[in-house]
Amino acid sequence: RLEIRNLRRSFEGRAVVDDVSLKILPGQVTCLLGPSGCGKSTTLRMIAGVEMQDSGTIHVDGKLICDTVFRVPPERREIGLMFQDFALFPHLSVADNVGYGLTGTKASKRERVEELLRRVDLIRFIDGYPHQLSGGEQQRVALARALAPRPRIMLMDEPFSGLDNRLRDGIRDETLSILKEEDTAVLLVTHEPDEAMRMADEIALMRDGKIVQQGAPYNVYTRPIDRASVSFFSDAN
Ligand code: ATP
Ligand code: MG
Repeated sequence: RLEIRNLRRSFEGRAVVDDVSLKILPGQVTCLLGPSGCGKSTTLRMIAGVEMQDSGTIHVDGKLICDTVFRVPPERREIGLMFQDFALFPHLSVADNVGYGLTGTKASKRERVEELLRRVDLIRFIDGYPHQLSGGEQQRVALARALAPRPRIMLMDEPFSGLDNRLRDGIRDETLSILKEEDTAVLLVTHEPDEAMRMADEIALMRDGKIVQQGAPYNVYTRPIDRASVSFFSDAN
């Protein structure tokens, strides 16, 4: 369970993330949805620990992981990351890519790698290299890599945007079912209402650094709170 409270970040005197609070529960996908430049990635980067907030707190399972004086380093946050530009390591085999963040014995690592590659239906590529895989297959390896250390929280920033439409639907569904099975708490960033409608249990609509509306996808979509939200939904279609 991830809880962020009153997160703020400014660049050059401009508030890019302006008092954002969110709770993300296990087994649930929360979509941070909003137009380009509204502050979605910056929010995710602060949760991941690669960007520092000006104020606000981040808790995981009730434990403080970051405020303005105390800070757990990114690699110890037990948060999985899947970003569009988070490429696989081209010089490592598929198995080594998936096992990259794992600790433990060689045998236990191999077992977890095999389990995940079976799950994403790519076990036949275990000794292959990224360049031998299609874009969609690489994306599934990236998903397996992000899930390998069993993060309780997964942050995903437009993870499907590099894929063509046909592939994308299948991978979205597959990703969802794996994340639900593992009971992961997911924060998914997207600027596409369609993707949020398809993936989310909860949508947090963001604009100019603020969350302007939050709720079940159907409610947010059918009852936009203001004209700007109406045009965001209609422009996107
Ligand atoms: P997109 O959908 O295009 O990815 P976004 O909602 O993820 O947009 P952010 O990447 O969070 O947007 O950026 C929000 C704003 O903050 C942008 O105007 C961006 O230029 C600005 N910004 C982000 N990082 C920095 C930085 N390191 N220095 C200065 N400005 C920044
Ligand atoms: Mg972004």
